[in-house]
Amino acid sequence: MTTLPMPTGLLIDGEWIAGSGTLPVIDPSDLSVIAEVGDAGVDDGLAAVTAAHDAFRTWSATPARQRAEVLRRAFEIMSAEADECARLISLENGKAYRDAVAETAYAAEFFRWFSEEASRVEGGFRPSPAGDKMIVTDHRPIGVAYCITPWNFPAAMATRKIGPALAAGCTVVLKPASETPLTALWIGDVMTRAGAPRGVVNVITTSRAGEVSTAVLADPRVMTLSFTGSTAVGKALLRQTADRVLRSSMELGGNAPFVVLEGADVDAAVSGAMVAKMRNGGAACTAANRFYVHASLTTTFTDRLEHALAAMRIGPGIDPATELGAMVSVNERDKILGLLADSEADGARATTLGDAPAGGAFLAPVIVRDVRHGSLLTRTEVFGPVAPIVTFEDTDDAVRMANDTEYGLISYLYAPDPGTGLSVGRRMESGMVAINRGVASDPAAPFGGTKESGLGREGGFAGIHEFLEVQYLAVDL
Ligand code: NAP
Repeated sequence: MTTLPMPTGLLIDGEWIAGSGTLPVIDPSDLSVIAEVGDAGVDDGLAAVTAAHDAFRTWSATPARQRAEVLRRAFEIMSAEADECARLISLENGKAYRDAVAETAYAAEFFRWFSEEASRVEGGFRPSPAGDKMIVTDHRPIGVAYCITPWNFPAAMATRKIGPALAAGCTVVLKPASETPLTALWIGDVMTRAGAPRGVVNVITTSRAGEVSTAVLADPRVMTLSFTGSTAVGKALLRQTADRVLRSSMELGGNAPFVVLEGADVDAAVSGAMVAKMRNGGAACTAANRFYVHASLTTTFTDRLEHALAAMRIGPGIDPATELGAMVSVNERDKILGLLADSEADGARATTLGDAPAGGAFLAPVIVRDVRHGSLLTRTEVFGPVAPIVTFEDTDDAVRMANDTEYGLISYLYAPDPGTGLSVGRRMESGMVAINRGVASDPAAPFGGTKESGLGREGGFAGIHEFLEVQYLAVDL
């Protein structure tokens, strides 16, 4: 087992404590155990809520400028120690080190962005139309935030919640995915070193997500849930939060269409597809999940994409030369193999490009031709290096197929000109549309989905409002 330069207990009330057992952390590139972290039980979860609740009074009354300075220091520490963070991400998640470096920069940027936003929260002051009172509106920190994050972006999903919560004056109990607890604990340590007072950020790692979260969410001191993960778990949590009418922000699954319109620049579309599909090995909620390509471009686009995918270097994520690392677990890989078998039974032709190393949760890129829109492969969030290609003749058909999903996180569109891009892009039923680009995510932009992809927005000007509540004060004239 590697000895890691970081605490591995639970972070509760500024102390690193043992928890009621330990949880192994696996390196998916060779399936070895790289660390044991604390395994929180219900009592630990509630102790973290107590710490966050006690800290809230002082933290919410701390001037915004001081809260901003803590976040700014966290940005600076994370940037200075980016290599350490990226190595941890790569080790426990399996993703290529270069993807982990990019994630670390993206994650740190949430601290910088929200350090800037902390002092820009506005209120309102206006006379009522009847002239009898002043309508004063204020934005108040909502209280203790319970934040649950997934394994695919272990750093960025944590900072995208901690940043706005602390900027708003809220305190946090963070529960990371059990596959990737180390990065979250490392970030907890960064927050402590950045000067977050005890109890402001608590991190609990657990093998009992359901049991611990049920107890935490039932606690009246918890005032909001911020969840990023699958739609299935998000729905189950919404049912629980309904009992307490608890504010909830949901960043859920996606099934992103990638549409290449007639006349689009094929080389640009292939470059964009490589980013939209292969960033993070395809394990991104924003990953292009299904490609709709105009019949005049299908052969050229598919052949060139195949060529680019086949050239990818596959190996352990921690090797700097690796472009495609391991999937997070053998289980995740096997789910994808099942989907591929189903699509072949449905008449599609899957070609595996390259050799996956033995001994880990590896999957070489796969391009799938002659895919039928409506097949399981086009309806399921694949979360791996698989590119299914569907041909279309008519733009209206492409828009209809792109929108034919219960998800609505992001759509990608390659158009011959910006005007066509904007007019077709506005017909996409998704919270985000990337036009002639393979990536849209930006801490300064509102990230989030429509339909079953979620509720609320993270990042941008909207992100801090997930942790603020409007209070209206009627002042008699
Ligand atoms: P997941 O299975 O839903 O797990 C997400 C988190 O929820 C983990 O921390 C997990 O803990 C926890 N969890 C599981 N069951 C729970 C329960 N009953 N009560 C409380 N918490 C519970 O998702 P994942 O496989 O980690 O992540 C992949 C999914 O996340 C994909 O669907 C992806 O699209 C989505 N995602 C969305 C966004 C976005 O911004 N929209 C970003 C990234 C990922 P354990 O690990 O202990 O099970």
